[in-house]
Amino acid sequence: MSQMSGSCRCDQLQFTISGKPVLSGFCHCHACQKRTSGPCAGFLMVKKEQLDITGQSQQFKDTGGSGKPMIEHHCSICGTTVFTELKVLQDILAIPASTLNNPSQFSPETHVWVSSLNLHFAISDNLSQEPGPPRAVLKYLA
Ligand SMILES: [Zn+2]
Ligand SMILES: [Zn+2]
Repeated sequence: MSQMSGSCRCDQLQFTISGKPVLSGFCHCHACQKRTSGPCAGFLMVKKEQLDITGQSQQFKDTGGSGKPMIEHHCSICGTTVFTELKVLQDILAIPASTLNNPSQFSPETHVWVSSLNLHFAISDNLSQEPGPPRAVLKYLA
């Protein structure tokens, strides 16, 4: 897979991802609904060493579904979240798929946290559905 790149809305905060993401999918958790103002959020999970960031970010600390902290890094100018540290997983970062410069590079594999499916959203594809966090990344548990 070729390199992926992305940015916040104002392009101050930019990133590149080297290699294939660990997992791609849609998250239906309430935190993603609030963060995006939408029914769900496309995400990529990558290893820390795959991500290269330029620009300045501010941090917002929240608690994830695991009860462990998640630290969102957003642009200090436009507010777009560009990556999130999930303290429940070692060396894994989550990136909103909406920040990709070429959205066609997003290839979702699963829906996660479908127990929080809300806002009249209905899943109409054949991807796997998981009630909680993605099982595919449990091997990275901190
Ligand atoms: Zn920005
Ligand atoms: Zn979520």
